[in-house]
Amino acid sequence: MNANNHYDVIVIGAGPAGLTAGIYLSRARLKKLIVSEGIAGGQMILTHEIANYPGVESISGYQLASIMKKQAIAFGCDIRTNAAIQELSMEAEIKSITLSDGITYTSESVILTPGGRSRTLGVPGEDNFKGRGISYCATCDGDFFTNKEIVVVGGGNSALEEAVSLTKYARKVTIVHQFDNFQAFEHAVDEARNNPKIQFIMESTITGLHGTDSIEHVDIKNLRSGRITSFKTDGVFIFIGYLPNTEFLKDKVELNKWGEIAVKPDMSTNIEGVYAAGDSIAKRFRQITTAVGDGTVAALAASNYLHELKAKQKQLITA
Ligand SMILES: Cc1cc2nc3c(=O)[nH]c(=O)nc-3n(C[C@H](O)[C@H](O)[C@H](O)COP(=O)(O)OP(=O)(O)OC[C@H]3O[C@@H](n4cnc5c(N)ncnc54)[C@H](O)[C@@H]3O)c2cc1C
Repeated sequence: MNANNHYDVIVIGAGPAGLTAGIYLSRARLKKLIVSEGIAGGQMILTHEIANYPGVESISGYQLASIMKKQAIAFGCDIRTNAAIQELSMEAEIKSITLSDGITYTSESVILTPGGRSRTLGVPGEDNFKGRGISYCATCDGDFFTNKEIVVVGGGNSALEEAVSLTKYARKVTIVHQFDNFQAFEHAVDEARNNPKIQFIMESTITGLHGTDSIEHVDIKNLRSGRITSFKTDGVFIFIGYLPNTEFLKDKVELNKWGEIAVKPDMSTNIEGVYAAGDSIAKRFRQITTAVGDGTVAALAASNYLHELKAKQKQLITA
């Protein structure tokens, strides 16, 4: 074990959950390394404007990410970004992580915060209009569509519940769904059907997104007839599933059937010394505030674990 590359805690992921965990680990005077596959900030850097983070009326995601990163560094976190994990071993008391440059880091504890991503439609124009008419989060972006006409894509619980919640803002919501029935609870379907602001286009899918500065119209294909029509809209909300970034954790930590990390209320996983936080864990609401909260709990629980572990090790030495 190389002492220079040994940390008390290694945090995997540098989104709001990981950066918050780093800040709180510093408060406990622990040596910590944050490792991230991408640049620091996670999904925040994809966000044009954040208006629901308490204490900050409005800020670009990039700016909020930069502030959190600066704060984590000022608190003494080592951060390695754009670093892919090649090997990960967490079963033993000493955990080890090898990055793609071949450097191995070890630690007594690991906090997993790899976040996740919304399932995308994969149609032309989708990447272009992300944050400029395309959204995957009603709580985050609904307000920007006040009095506008929007399309919601999907037919599960999320799509129907979010469509109903979007009627608080939008003048009209059109749900586009690929089947002739919904894969959602009956009460969610009834609530959407009884909402006068919601209309439905069934057995259809979106095949193209068009506009100049932001979305102006979409191509909707009827899957029965194959006919494509152009549909005018101010925005498209896509709720066709969520994918946690946990592929690299398969067989390393307990995941549920959706690939989300199973955690207890203190964010501990089934592996001793390993904690998880943020969008990658099994939970209902995925926001910056919830990620920051989870990161705090995980860091405090990991600090506690290390405190007890070190006390035990001291006892063994003196015995
Ligand atoms: C377009 C958009 C707009 C949003 N708007 C808002 C909003 O206005 N308000 C709000 O509260 N929330 C918003 N959200 C949700 C919010 O961004 C997330 O809930 C939050 O970022 C989750 O934080 P996290 O730290 O758990 O994960 P993430 O932010 O996803 O960060 C994960 C980190 O892990 C790293 N990583 C992933 N896989 C690996 C790996 N294998 N190895 C190493 N590192 C890895 C990533 O590079 C990243 O650094 C929005 C999300 C999107 C996509």
